[in-house]
Amino acid sequence: MAETPVIEIRNLHKAYGALEVIKGVDITAPRGHVISLIGSSGSGKSTILRCANLLEDSQQGDILFNGEPVKWKGEGLGRHPADAKQVLRIRTNLSMVFQQFNLWAHMTILQNVMEAPVTVLGRDRAEVEHAARGYLDKVGIGDKCDVYPAQLSGGQQQRAAIARALCMEPEALLFDEPTSALDPELEQEVIRVIKDLANEGRTMMLVTHDMSMARDVSDHVVFLHQGLIEEEGAPDALFGAPESERLRGFLSSTM
Ligand code: ADP
Ligand code: MG
Repeated sequence: MAETPVIEIRNLHKAYGALEVIKGVDITAPRGHVISLIGSSGSGKSTILRCANLLEDSQQGDILFNGEPVKWKGEGLGRHPADAKQVLRIRTNLSMVFQQFNLWAHMTILQNVMEAPVTVLGRDRAEVEHAARGYLDKVGIGDKCDVYPAQLSGGQQQRAAIARALCMEPEALLFDEPTSALDPELEQEVIRVIKDLANEGRTMMLVTHDMSMARDVSDHVVFLHQGLIEEEGAPDALFGAPESERLRGFLSSTM
């Protein structure tokens, strides 16, 4: 029997008021796999990530974490997660890395990385500090522990944000356009880190506009169009022999 996936999204529907933006989407992230979401701006990529880790409610469909379905109360626009402990468990296990880094400006880099494991997970401060220094080393900024975010380049800030996500020791990492705010010369240092994480066998869902990164790191690529999956498959097939006209158009527009 196949291993239970870390994340399973089944028939997800999500509306903002009267505007339905996700219209029945199924995505599975098996353990150790990288799933990339691509598509035009507004196609629903960020919304899917935010629904997956319960930053957003959804109106219909199931979200399973390690096979455990999210428990809901209410229906339609009134549907919300029913179990706050379950929400916390899922959210802390699906660490998100955002386009805009979202580091705390008044904390040092080390404090940024240590904050949530200590305050949210209640882990031992000395152990967390040891781990945090290790993750900062791993992303190549072990010498920046005591500086503030404003003193770092964008690429260094994003690597700090990745170290912060790793320090939660999550079951999966969710990346939302992690290189979009970076100058091209700084993008590469972040891509390098993401490739290393993929090679380590981390489970990841990655929203990106960078087709070359998506092709290199993904096990499976999902192309979204207006809140539906238009085409999906292995990266070589999807990028090498796209079937849908829309995907062909999208790919030629990103070259
Ligand atoms: P993507 O990440 O693919 O660019 P999004 O998931 O951000 O797309 O957005 C999908 C759709 O949902 C878009 O039409 C967008 O305008 C709409 N949308 C996103 N966030 C909100 C919000 N907070 N309120 C209303 N509409 C939203
Ligand atoms: Mg987005």
